[in-house]
Amino acid sequence: MDMWKCHAGQKQLPVPDEDSLVFWEACRRQRLVVQQCVACQHYRFPPSPLCPACLSPRLAWREDPGRGEVETFCVYHSELAGPAWQPDLPYVVAVIRLWHTGVQMLSQLRCTDPGAIAIGMVVQVRFEPASEQIMLPKFVPVAASQIPGQA
Ligand SMILES: [Zn+2]
Repeated sequence: MDMWKCHAGQKQLPVPDEDSLVFWEACRRQRLVVQQCVACQHYRFPPSPLCPACLSPRLAWREDPGRGEVETFCVYHSELAGPAWQPDLPYVVAVIRLWHTGVQMLSQLRCTDPGAIAIGMVVQVRFEPASEQIMLPKFVPVAASQIPGQA
């Protein structure tokens, strides 16, 4: 179908640029980093040259432990993103709110039972190699026994 024209056979990979290079280099070391504004302390994601809160260009990179919760999600039962996704069906795309920095991250949620996913589910980042250069941050559910304050 014509709708696949921009998805030629392979999954699209991120292309690190001037703003995101530090983020992708950290992912290669299996570390999640988020920009923080030096002027107003606002955390932001995705990486950008200016703080969206105060427009300052001064930034620092902060490590985030990669734990958070599902804010919303979608279970894909067809390869809408292109035929390369066919072997992954069904797969889950989720918006994750990271607890440490508070930023939202759009990612894939790896789960053996998509029917068990719920808003508020606690998840942890896990890095998966996508190419020689790119490690992708994805998320997996955290067992209730590993969450402080829960059985
Ligand atoms: Zn700021």
